[in-house]
Amino acid sequence: MQYEAVIGLEVHAQLLTRTKAFCACPTTFGAAPNTQVCPVCLGLPGALPVLNGEAVRMAVRTALALSCTLKKRSRFARKNYFYPDLPKGYQISQFDEPFSERGHLEVEVGGAARSIGITRVHMEEDAGKSTHHSHASVVDLNRSGVALVEIVGEPDLRSAAEAAEYLRVLRDVLVFIGVNDGNLEEGSFRCDANVSIRPAGEAKLGTRVELKNINSFRFVERAIAHEIARQTAVLDAGGRIVMETRGWNEDEGTTFSLRSKEEAQDYRYFPDPDLPPLVL
Ligand code: ADP
Ligand code: ZN
Ligand code: MG
Repeated sequence: MQYEAVIGLEVHAQLLTRTKAFCACPTTFGAAPNTQVCPVCLGLPGALPVLNGEAVRMAVRTALALSCTLKKRSRFARKNYFYPDLPKGYQISQFDEPFSERGHLEVEVGGAARSIGITRVHMEEDAGKSTHHSHASVVDLNRSGVALVEIVGEPDLRSAAEAAEYLRVLRDVLVFIGVNDGNLEEGSFRCDANVSIRPAGEAKLGTRVELKNINSFRFVERAIAHEIARQTAVLDAGGRIVMETRGWNEDEGTTFSLRSKEEAQDYRYFPDPDLPPLVL
């Protein structure tokens, strides 16, 4: 059987604001752990978020550079989950009312021009950073509350090479318009790749697997290529693909299962009552 690969990318890009999304803490990379924190980004009871105007301007510039339509009115929502690097127990994001939607990005692969759809660009805050050692796990909350844009791409990409090229062009655009430093290694430009395959000629999308936080262009291409081959082998052997989140092991050149994929309903999204609607 001949299969066609379908890939859609979600990119999280840190905005180059001097201060965080909802407090005045600095965002300088590499400061001593837990020195750039305050009651708001530590999630202390009673602390209230105040939206950073510069973050809004940079997010709007991002959406315009990707030919998105701006929505005059949007809303922040709470995305609820428990994790040690998320002190509030929820992340402030946008859900059913993002500030922009329906854009596209032109890329050229192997001499052919392709227009890749952008589903939406929305604003959200970053979580802190957990590091796991043999004897302990430690949390640095300097990154907690840093302003991000999430750029959700349509499932328009058809190969690992196309996905890598889309990411390169997207990074160049964000760096050029001055909203992101383009640094994959430091995690200021991060990508989740959703990968599925379907029989060639089939219109319906196959079951997708989400590859989490791959931190270099070379790894993205290798991880997607490996995942396409893995899914092809599963289907060829008469098996079926399960919807799940997988990680990439660079040393072994393989993907491995992290967890079953969570659905939107698992996050109990609701409008954040601490923030008024964003009106552009
Ligand atoms: P979630 O947060 O659950 O991952 P999103 O809607 O934010 O959901 O992102 C979904 C991403 O997955 C988009 O980039 C989309 O293009 C991609 N996608 C959706 N369905 C498929 C599929 N069948 N195959 C490949 N990619 C897909
Ligand atoms: Zn703070
Ligand atoms: Mg996803």
